[in-house]
Amino acid sequence: MSEIGKNLIVISGPSGCGKDTVVKHILKTDDRFVLSVSATTRTKRPTETDGVDYIFLTAPEFIAKIAGGEFLEHTLYCDNYYGTLKSQIEEKVAAGKVVILVIEVEGAANVKKVYPDSLTIFVAPPSLEELERRLRNRGTEGDDVIKQRLFKANEELGFKSSYDYIVENNFVEQCAESIINIYENEK
Ligand code: 5GP
Repeated sequence: MSEIGKNLIVISGPSGCGKDTVVKHILKTDDRFVLSVSATTRTKRPTETDGVDYIFLTAPEFIAKIAGGEFLEHTLYCDNYYGTLKSQIEEKVAAGKVVILVIEVEGAANVKKVYPDSLTIFVAPPSLEELERRLRNRGTEGDDVIKQRLFKANEELGFKSSYDYIVENNFVEQCAESIINIYENEK
């Protein structure tokens, strides 16, 4: 087993399913886990901090990192680049941590190809109606972006059976506990 792969948990789920909140809960309650901070070209939301939630880059900066081979995986999602930096994974695993990647389905499949022993978990919303309600309540995206993300959500839900586990997010604490239990059982 690769030292890196067995210390990676890859989490996906449609936009608005609550996966970021669930992961924040895991990080707050269990210090074995740390987040892989992704790079992105999307605009920073008012609630986000550069270097903590994402490493915010311009498109030319992002493209230079692709050319430099700095990404484990990267993708274009709803017109913005997102990518996992190899340095995030390597340094954090070397420090003895289990690294959680919160990435979309294409990126998750690419990580699983490179690290087959990584653990992949799909966080599903209770329903598409509930997903739309959460996206609208969040109020961070306009109507066009919400529609684009709901369309994408339908597409992403079609990939859930390719994950090692599917966890439904009804309650944040419960969902976080299920993910930690899955990790414990698999390790
Ligand atoms: P958001 O804009 O809502 O923060 O993220 C949009 C989507 O991009 C989410 O599904 C999120 O998990 C995914 N994402 C975030 N970082 C990465 C990454 O490094 N790589 C990939 N492939 N997807 C990512």
